[in-house]
Amino acid sequence: MKVHEYQAKDILKKYGVSVPRGRVAFSKDEAYEIAKEIGGTVVVKAQIHAGGRGKGTFKDGFQGGVKLAKSPQEAREYAGKMLNNILVTHQTGPEGKKVEKVYITEASEIEKEYYLGIVLDRAKECNVIMASTEGGVEIESVAEKTPEKIVKVWIHPLAGFQKYQARELGFALKLTGDRFKSFCELVEKLYIAHEQSDATLTEINPLITTKDGKVVALDAKMNFDDNALFRHKEIAELRDISEEDPLEVESSKFDLNYIKLDGTIGCMVNGAGLAMATMDVITLEGGKPANFLDVGGSATEERVKNAFRILLSDKNVKSVLINIFGGIVRCDVIAQGVISAAKEIDVKLPVVVRLQGTNSEKGMELLKTSGKNFLTADNLQEAAKIAVKAAMGE
Ligand code: GDP
Ligand code: MN
Repeated sequence: MKVHEYQAKDILKKYGVSVPRGRVAFSKDEAYEIAKEIGGTVVVKAQIHAGGRGKGTFKDGFQGGVKLAKSPQEAREYAGKMLNNILVTHQTGPEGKKVEKVYITEASEIEKEYYLGIVLDRAKECNVIMASTEGGVEIESVAEKTPEKIVKVWIHPLAGFQKYQARELGFALKLTGDRFKSFCELVEKLYIAHEQSDATLTEINPLITTKDGKVVALDAKMNFDDNALFRHKEIAELRDISEEDPLEVESSKFDLNYIKLDGTIGCMVNGAGLAMATMDVITLEGGKPANFLDVGGSATEERVKNAFRILLSDKNVKSVLINIFGGIVRCDVIAQGVISAAKEIDVKLPVVVRLQGTNSEKGMELLKTSGKNFLTADNLQEAAKIAVKAAMGE
């Protein structure tokens, strides 16, 4: 689960990480009041679940989702331009994201920008803390072009974070004196925040040093492990459904594991592993999956119906591939779900079905006698071939 910058900073603040003072505003008048309260120059920051806001452009041509405002009047003006406007950044895709709130913070005097991030290193099976002198820039492009400019320390899961590891990073960034000390303290607090809140990603870009020697998290991004949210009620409450893909929100209501992708072949599969394999075979056959969808090992007719409906409401879908292995679930139950969904929704797209396992003959028979024009296949590769051809209109 993702949260907004202001929410991530509220969490980090609780752990003692130094962040600029600020409050979120839902209207331009509120922005004015907060700016007045903070005093001096403030920053007006569009709150969306995407980065690159500073260099982003609004749909009406207004430039920048991060603006310095010298007075409360100016803060109100910028907030007015951003709120209810669509911000397009390199992370939002061309459709952009609607800004519904802005964060008003005190402005910092930047001496230098750094990058600091914590993420799980799957290959090493432990968390990695990364730091770089190339702050404020896309870390992905630093990693690509100048990987030597990113320093990393790996945290042993049993030994935990060790203070020398922060010092190692601090030396690599060539920090000295107070800046070095503050940096080490901040890294430690950031790591504790990350670990204790079950975050999967904590990214400070940029982390800055100020002209008066402070080290401050100027931006903050945190993602959390959905499977750990049950033990973090206060974090779970931060969920902003308006930021999520509507189809993914809809599918989470039915406990379906649905992830929207940008291809044209809708997939419905039982089991995550089989779903991954199905997507691979589609790709191998020259197609592109429109989604990942795992209806679960114990799919009922009702679940299949909802899954089918959600999958088809993606306008990009040109054909559907249903790949079911009847282990726990019976193929005839799935077939029944598909048939009643197809009748209810009046599906016009080609639907390819491959059923294997328990009661597969019975399931196939039901599909053939349903009066609906299902395409069937005995094996996955054949099914994928048919689905890819169908998606291309052949
Ligand atoms: P992002 O573009 O979505 O990553 O948003 P950031 O919060 O990282 O802000 C983008 C850029 O705006 C930063 O890299 C800074 O250069 C600039 N910026 C943000 N806050 C301040 C501030 O308080 N003072 C100054 N001088 N610049 C800021
Ligand atoms: Mn940033």
